[in-house]
Amino acid sequence: MQIAPNVRAVQVPDNNPMHPQCTTIYLVGRGQVLTIDSGEDAERYRWMLRGYLAATEKAEIGMSCVTHHHRDHSSNLRWLRDEFGADVRVLNEGMPLLGDRLPESGVTAIDHGSEIGPSDDVRVTAIHTPGHSVDSVCYHLESEGVLFTGDTILGGSLTTINDFALYLDSLSRLRDLPNLRLLCPGHGPVIENPVAYIDAYIRGRYERERQILEVLAQSQELTSWAIMEVVYADRNLGPRLRRAAERQVDTHLRKLEKEGRVNVYAGKPREKSAEEIARAEEKEHERLDVIRRADEYREEARRRALATQENPSSADWEDPPRYALA
Ligand SMILES: [Zn+2]
Repeated sequence: MQIAPNVRAVQVPDNNPMHPQCTTIYLVGRGQVLTIDSGEDAERYRWMLRGYLAATEKAEIGMSCVTHHHRDHSSNLRWLRDEFGADVRVLNEGMPLLGDRLPESGVTAIDHGSEIGPSDDVRVTAIHTPGHSVDSVCYHLESEGVLFTGDTILGGSLTTINDFALYLDSLSRLRDLPNLRLLCPGHGPVIENPVAYIDAYIRGRYERERQILEVLAQSQELTSWAIMEVVYADRNLGPRLRRAAERQVDTHLRKLEKEGRVNVYAGKPREKSAEEIARAEEKEHERLDVIRRADEYREEARRRALATQENPSSADWEDPPRYALA
C-alpha cells in the first residue's frame, strides 16, 4: 500500500490482541529499499514481504532497521540479511537486547540523530524515544512528513509503557518535529492528524492516572490487579490483555510513588522450596523431550514421504511385473 511517494506499507493481519488489526513492515525508497521493522518469527511475514516485493515492485532490500527489540518487530533481521544481503542498522541501546536475532555480519550501530537511508536522496533520521521500551526509536522521513513510530505510538489504541516520565518526554519531542504529516505505527492504521493524535495520546495517559487516583481515594489499600479491574471495567478488555493492563497500572503507580502521591506497602514474594524448583525443572525437561521427539518423528515422516515419491516401489514387490512387446 502506497503511503507517500517513497513509502509503502506491507500490512500483515494479526490475531494477537496486543497488536490492533495488523503488524506493519514499511518499505522506504526505490530499487534498493530500507525496511523498517520485520515482523515476528512466522512464515506469513516472510511470505507477505516476499510476495509484496515480487508482485508490486522490482525492488531489493538493501538496508533493514527496527523500531525496538520486541520480537514482533525484530524476528526476521537474520532472514533479511541471509535472503537479501541487507545491511542491518540498530540503535546502540538495542544491541544487547536483540541477542541471537541479530545476524552474524552486516550489523552497524546507530545513535540518536543518525541519518540512514537506502539512497543519498531518501534518508530517515533516528530519534531515540524511550518509554515503551528502553531502545524504542522512531524514524523521521522529514522530506515527506512521515514518522515511523513502531510501538511508541499505535494506530487505534494506547500503547504499553514501562517509564511514564521518559515516555511523555519522548511524545513531546515527537510532537515538535518539523513537517509532521503522517504517523506510520508498528500496529494499526496510519494516522493522518499527527499533532492532534499525539495530544490525545498524552491526555489519555493523564486520564488513566486520574482514574487510578480516583479508585485509590475510594478504598484503603488495593493491589494493582484490583485497581486494573476497576479502571478497565468499562473498556471491554479481552482476557488476554489483563496482565498487560495490570503492568500499565504498575507503571503509573511507580510514577505516583516517586512523586510521593501514593504509599506502597511492600508485598512478600512467594518463595519456592529447592524441592519445588527441582520438580518443576524435571517436568520441564520431560516436556521438552517429548516435543523434541515429536519433531524428530515429523521430520522422519517427511523424509519417508519424499523417498516414496522419488524411488521405485520395490519394497512392495518380491518380483515386480515386467513388460515387453507382444
Ligand atoms: Zn513493543
